[in-house]
Amino acid sequence: MTHGGADRALVDSSAAELRDLIARGDLTPRKLADASLDRAVAVDAWGHGLNILLHEDRSDAHRRADDVATQHEPGRFGALAGVPVVVKDNIATTTLPTSCGSRILEGYVSPFDATAVRKLRDAGAVIVAKSNMDEFAMGSSTENSAYGPAKNPLDPSRVPGGSSGGSAAAVAAGIVPIALGSETGGSVRQPAAFCGVVGVKPTYGRVSRYGLVAFASSLDQVGVFGRSVDDAALGLQTIAGLDPLDSTSAAEPVANYREAARGSLTGVVIGRPKEYFPDDLDSKTRDKCDAAFDLLTSLGAEIRDVSLPHTDLAIQVYYIVAPAEASSNLARFDGVRYGLRIDGDGLRGMYEATRSSGFGPEVTRRILLGTYVLSAGYYDAYYRKAQEVRALIARDFARVFNSGVHLLFTPTTPSTAFELGAKADPYEMYLSDIFTCTANLAGVPAISLPIGRVDGLPVGGQFIASHFDERQMFAAAYALERVLGSGAHA
Ligand code: GLN
Repeated sequence: MTHGGADRALVDSSAAELRDLIARGDLTPRKLADASLDRAVAVDAWGHGLNILLHEDRSDAHRRADDVATQHEPGRFGALAGVPVVVKDNIATTTLPTSCGSRILEGYVSPFDATAVRKLRDAGAVIVAKSNMDEFAMGSSTENSAYGPAKNPLDPSRVPGGSSGGSAAAVAAGIVPIALGSETGGSVRQPAAFCGVVGVKPTYGRVSRYGLVAFASSLDQVGVFGRSVDDAALGLQTIAGLDPLDSTSAAEPVANYREAARGSLTGVVIGRPKEYFPDDLDSKTRDKCDAAFDLLTSLGAEIRDVSLPHTDLAIQVYYIVAPAEASSNLARFDGVRYGLRIDGDGLRGMYEATRSSGFGPEVTRRILLGTYVLSAGYYDAYYRKAQEVRALIARDFARVFNSGVHLLFTPTTPSTAFELGAKADPYEMYLSDIFTCTANLAGVPAISLPIGRVDGLPVGGQFIASHFDERQMFAAAYALERVLGSGAHA
């Protein structure tokens, strides 16, 4: 074994177990960082292969790993001491570029760390790489990256999902136990489902957005991928909490989510929203969800049929609100302050040349869409109307959670991972977000976990909870994961 057994430990252990191996002195952070980067090479994670990672710096990883080893005195190691972590390319890091999967920010290095990154580092995590993503997080397949599409490690002819596809794939490929992604409309849960890993989107405000490059500020949240529910719980509790640098971050106390592993589901009411189980839902996906409901019942939960009547308007609302906010947020990429600059005829010509060649087709489409729905004469018909319907979608959730329902359980996605190039029509791609973008519009937390396989590909199921009730959501996810893992569903 190379790296003193670190390779096997990396693939076989949870983040918490890796941290304990380090704290006991059975492994060093440097060996683990090397094992992670070597694994990335072994699974062909770089551009010529799966294309799931964009930037690395082994010598920086070594330095950071050695700092963890020396600065954390024995007995006082952080919760993620020496654990290798991958970060999505739209989350600011001082050590590696933050290019958002875009040409307009090619090579850009942030002068500061995102708060989520700082908290990971403070806990002893070692960031080994930045991951590929749809440009500015706009997409559901990671095919919109300016650096080429990422591929699903479980079947490289298929997409890993998106927009955080590279982070999901890095966890699925065994490169890291934990990765950061971001969600605006499902970009952590959907790739988690496609890659067979766990993905959590916290309540809006639970995690600081400081240093997360803004796409649609009223929807954006940093999210966490884990190989298991425990990895995701540990990752989230490390980065959660109030941050003076983000005025939308919340002062709500952060529970110890890992303690939810001991929670019982007796008396927990789990809603089955009928809009998430339409007649044309893939029958095998439905079967997997039905099996999960049976298991939840056997664990003591009560399953209740509920309705979220405005669900079928969510895609239309999302694809008005998100582009509207994006058209404003992306105005800052003007060739003056950040990244790419291409000179043209005067200032206006420079703007045009820079933005036309810096942004890819999907980002350009969103900026045009967003500018249109915000323009005089259309604002009331589209943007204001969308905001009104967004409130109705949020009210659907509030009504259900106020009626004694603790959690909802639904499929994460309408299908399993699709083939590269299968959704060339943007509208087709947008429709695949139907079960995920609702939680973002309402601001509620949700977690996707693998609930079985269909034709060899993972199927994800998601628990949705009420605002700031991540603990309840984790308790159910831990319990379901445990019975699924024990083979009770076979
Ligand atoms: N697929 C959605 C979009 O393209 C969601 C993306 C995200 O959550 N970042 O906008």
